[in-house]
Amino acid sequence: EDLGFPGPLKRHGIMVCVRKRPLSRKELAERELDVISMPRADMLVAHSPRRHVNLVRFLENHNFRFDCTFDEACSNATVYNYTARPLIRHIFDGGMATCFAYGQTGSGKTHTMGGEFTGKQQNVMDGIYAMAANDVFSTLEEPSNASLGLKVTCSFFEIYGSRIYDLLTPGKEQLRVLEDGHQQVQVVGLAERPARNTADVLALLELGNCFRTSGQTSANCKSSRSHAIFQIVLRSAETFRLHGKLSLIDLAGNERGADNSSADRRTRLEGAEINKSLLVLKECIRALGRQASHIPFRGCKLTQVLRDSFIGKKVKTCMIATISPGLRCVEHTLNTLRYADRVK
Ligand code: ADP
Ligand code: MG
Repeated sequence: EDLGFPGPLKRHGIMVCVRKRPLSRKELAERELDVISMPRADMLVAHSPRRHVNLVRFLENHNFRFDCTFDEACSNATVYNYTARPLIRHIFDGGMATCFAYGQTGSGKTHTMGGEFTGKQQNVMDGIYAMAANDVFSTLEEPSNASLGLKVTCSFFEIYGSRIYDLLTPGKEQLRVLEDGHQQVQVVGLAERPARNTADVLALLELGNCFRTSGQTSANCKSSRSHAIFQIVLRSAETFRLHGKLSLIDLAGNERGADNSSADRRTRLEGAEINKSLLVLKECIRALGRQASHIPFRGCKLTQVLRDSFIGKKVKTCMIATISPGLRCVEHTLNTLRYADRVK
């Protein structure tokens, strides 16, 4: 499927796109209005109600331009082709690449990444995790890459508040971050597991997801309040030297950052921390896009652990902002769109 985009990853390796999910069965049953239209492959219009007037008759248009917009008819495969797929070649070229899913809880971040392993909602093979892994292994087998002598390892961890937990070593204490004299950032003791094929990668993801979601109820969903970072790492099989790295990140729900009205002190503090991390992330990507000499990656744990994906000549970043189509979500949707608009 060719959407006729001018070509992804322009502007110094930064790409910002938006994906709209379809109205859910429940929303359809409630006759929820779809207020998002995508008149062109790079354009999006949100219709929000004017305050104090008849909601349906007086909608205000907000226009946005992005690198690509994906409507509800786009498959995960299409989204993948335009976002994470070009990053695979880049990491084989010795680069660092990051792909973020950003948006409100329930807007489709996990669906896009393919992190839903229960089999109820989707087939994980349709997600970006699996498609990226597939392409990594098929690229590894290309004759021109055989001489690189690379092997693939994976890490999977979450940042919850400002604490880091290894999702591949359940039960482990929180991990510390060290910045050494050579300005390398290390998450001390983070597991890096070898993977020989896509099935290995998915098994690791499933293991980590199990741990990530254990003991939570849907009403008090911890996964919407943490950032999950999955990394596919290419290393020299002989020296273990880092060659390239792809980070696929399912961010905390951005509405959690606004959770400051909660009576619960812990929830308030968490909301403030999420808010801060998403703001710092925005500043880092913006600085990268402007090729600024200073990138404020030390501003939060998330950007600190992604340091080598922000600093350096060979970095590429892609953000997929996911949005819900419904009128009831339009305030959150506009927040997401404004954020994505500022990043680009
Ligand atoms: P998030 O991770 O942002 O909280 P989810 O990925 O869990 O959101 O999506 C919420 C619900 O919407 C899930 O049931 C998911 O299967 C569904 N969904 C999300 N995006 C799509 C899509 N593009 N097509 C079909 N269903 C989707
Ligand atoms: Mg999710």
